[in-house]
Amino acid sequence: MAAQSNNGKNQEVENVYTSSSEQGDRMPGQATILVVDDEKAMRDSCCQVLSKDGYRAETAVDGYSGLQKVRDIRPDLVLVDLKMPGMSGMELLERIGDVDPNIVSVVITGYATRESAVEAKRRNAYDYLPKPFTPNQLRTIIKRGLAEVNDDNKMAAQLIDEEKMGAQLIDGRAVAKRVKEELKKEIVELKEKHKSSPLLLAVQVGENPASASYLKSQKKGCEEVGVGYHVQQLPREVTEQELLQFIKGKNQDDTITGIILQMPLPEQINAEKVQEAIDPSKDVEGVNPQNMGLLIYGWPGLVPCTALAVMELIKSTGTSIKGKQVTLVGHSSLVGKPLTLLLLSSPFDSATTTVCHIATRDLAANTRRAEILIVAVGKPGLITGDMVKEGAMVIDVGINRVEGKLVGDVVFEEAKEKASLITPVPGGVGPVTAAMLLKNTVEAWKIQLGFDPMRNIEWTMD
Ligand code: NAD
Repeated sequence: MAAQSNNGKNQEVENVYTSSSEQGDRMPGQATILVVDDEKAMRDSCCQVLSKDGYRAETAVDGYSGLQKVRDIRPDLVLVDLKMPGMSGMELLERIGDVDPNIVSVVITGYATRESAVEAKRRNAYDYLPKPFTPNQLRTIIKRGLAEVNDDNKMAAQLIDEEKMGAQLIDGRAVAKRVKEELKKEIVELKEKHKSSPLLLAVQVGENPASASYLKSQKKGCEEVGVGYHVQQLPREVTEQELLQFIKGKNQDDTITGIILQMPLPEQINAEKVQEAIDPSKDVEGVNPQNMGLLIYGWPGLVPCTALAVMELIKSTGTSIKGKQVTLVGHSSLVGKPLTLLLLSSPFDSATTTVCHIATRDLAANTRRAEILIVAVGKPGLITGDMVKEGAMVIDVGINRVEGKLVGDVVFEEAKEKASLITPVPGGVGPVTAAMLLKNTVEAWKIQLGFDPMRNIEWTMD
């Protein structure tokens, strides 16, 4: 559903959506949510979701009427648009706190920046949701927000913690948890509607103790969200031709939604050839040349999980990439190149992207001007504190084992003194990559169920 901008918005009659005709009759968990937004389509879309979920939803068309409603009905949670005529969302946030500090405010905005996210938090916002967002993202944030009602001590502690730190951590585990919660809900709905179930097939050739932990965590992730999981072990001696035949068979098997090839493969097998053989609609790792090609055009398709994870982590901070100086170190086909294309995929909102690699001269000069620095190389200690710009966001994709410990490519202790936001290793990109594999499995399932990926975006704003 696309939101239309509208004129004469302040004259609109405000709608009240209720799931129950009895106003004072609060079911357990039935809370009142006030949506303050000057866009009618946005108010209507939010109310549709809220009333479907059993909340009492009320709306206001601007900050002044929003504040009046806060005083009159004392909602449990308020969704606040930032850019509104008259009283801005920022001012409204503060005024809501004056009326009742227990009311939870969540910002919804089409103009997300880190600065406005920080400012909104200072003005008592509990959370920040950039537009466009999906119904499931809205549901998750509201659920979390309502869980916080009357728990303002927790919020205060969180703010104090953030102020104490040099750089704020970008918590990959929390982002992954949120993504999985959204997927779980979507999977339940799709299963019920289509009487079908998704199944991820992991193909492993030969025994490989290193991939045992991957298989275990893939299985756990699938179980968490409601995706079936099956491992197919093939003998180490399997020929390339036999493996290609096996993949062909699985492409035609309607019970299999997605196929993931466990690496490494024995030397007699060309991995790229096998990846090419996976049906593009089952290619949950986004490595098939057809999916890579779609990425160049910015068309919907299945995208490599780590590249998606980095974008999701950036988005989770409320930072817009629009026009930002982004330096990406690493240009592999699996991470750096697809990520470059994602950073450049929007016609108007792309980042100004510099890609560095093994042949780059003066790496530090390139990293030092990055407002967002992304490192995907596989060399511990490559990026030291002096290579990071003051206030930058640092996303460390690298995974290296040093003296039995997992570390990234960035010297974390040094970089966190310069950066404003930084991902840890472990606990940063890794868990979100795993969540993106599940997300791709659901995307693949939707393609197979006949969803038109071109219409996948449910809400577009501004
Ligand atoms: P790769 O070996 O395919 O590519 C490495 C890239 O680094 C290349 O572009 C190369 O040119 C560049 N490079 C090498 N040395 C360099 C140097 N001194 N200066 C600048 N650039 C240099 O690796 P990959 O598959 O892209 O993985 C990169 C890292 O990310 C690895 O540590 C890998 O384990 C990790 N990784 C993590 C996840 C995750 O989920 N967190 C997923 C995939 C990969």
